[in-house]
Amino acid sequence: MTGAFLTINAGSSSIKFAVFDSDAASTKPRIRGKVAGIGTTPVFSARTAGGGALDAGALASLDVLSGHDAVIALLLPWLATHTGDRPLLAVGHRVVHGGQDLTGPTLISPSVLEQLERLVPLAPLHQPHNIAAIRAVAKWQPDVPQVACFDTSFHRSQDRLAQLFALPRALTDEGIIRYGFHGLSYEYISSVLPDHLGDRANGRVIVAHLGNGSSMCAMKDRKSAATSMGFTALDGLMMGRRCGALDPGVVLYLMQDKGLSAPEIEDILYKQSGLLGVSAISNDMQVLQDSENPHAQEAIDLFCYRAASSLAALVPSIGGLDALIFTAGIGENSAMVRKLICDRLSWLGAALDDTANVRNAVQISSHQSPVDILVIPTNEEAVVARACSTLLQSPTS
Ligand code: AMP
Repeated sequence: MTGAFLTINAGSSSIKFAVFDSDAASTKPRIRGKVAGIGTTPVFSARTAGGGALDAGALASLDVLSGHDAVIALLLPWLATHTGDRPLLAVGHRVVHGGQDLTGPTLISPSVLEQLERLVPLAPLHQPHNIAAIRAVAKWQPDVPQVACFDTSFHRSQDRLAQLFALPRALTDEGIIRYGFHGLSYEYISSVLPDHLGDRANGRVIVAHLGNGSSMCAMKDRKSAATSMGFTALDGLMMGRRCGALDPGVVLYLMQDKGLSAPEIEDILYKQSGLLGVSAISNDMQVLQDSENPHAQEAIDLFCYRAASSLAALVPSIGGLDALIFTAGIGENSAMVRKLICDRLSWLGAALDDTANVRNAVQISSHQSPVDILVIPTNEEAVVARACSTLLQSPTS
């Protein structure tokens, strides 16, 4: 039967959605949109595949008091009027954490929902929103199958060493390991690498997903070999509001000497650090790039220095570097950030073509560069829609 797939990506302050035709091989949705600024000033926007803006309808009434539940309650009926005459065949969700057991797209059942609930402590700022969206859809359309696609799954191909912390074995056995995130983005980039790199796609590739949340993934044979995020989405690169890798002694100091509580420290590490913390201006790279304040430049410089350092730390997992791919909001759009990172990677042979970089071209490495450097837009929704299609055809896979 032909119909539509709806994909939902429920984040901490936004809900992104897309509607795909089930019979179209295209990775382009017929509608793509989001409600941003949930909890502050919600702003709805949606466009058709042709680029036409769609009217917000009842979603125009959202205000500061509208939480995720209120947004979903208005969004789902809005979507129902925009799937045309195509029945909704499945709803796919980006879910941040699948733990060690959920290693691929999974049809949601009451027992799967229980598993997802048990993983909330591992992703307290994201997983509850993913679960709430699943429950809201089940209330609205109880008979429509729902599919969970996990940000952690792509990394389960890693060697055990890449997943271990040097912690006591008993803690490792409890599941305190490096899970890694942004897996749907990496899966998409992995799927299109041959279009850009031919045979080199199966070589030694590092993908830099640089957005509000940022991480890197080292791939060989288009599979994850190592990644910068760890047990939680706090580790690794500096981000919009998150600190990234931090000496754990700082956390002990904040607790023991400054007397801060766990929630207070969580707030500092997840919400007050990163670009926002260092600049004391904004978590938004574009705002910092436009600012003349030296603290803004210092935040950008630190972001790029730490990104280059993280990349260097990933190289041993794949034994060298054939290609570097930039993706996500900053990676796809900021020529300045790409330049500052690549300038620190010349020892690896990476050389930019500055003109191509400023143009946001796809291939931005110079002809002499032994490392291909590319800008490839990510498309996590397409990965989720593809998973819906696959699971509906073969639900036990
Ligand atoms: P994402 O989380 O992938 O949506 O990325 C959001 C980040 O991308 C924000 O920090 C934006 O400022 C940044 N961004 C988007 N467009 C640009 C641009 N043209 N130049 C610099 N940063 C940008």
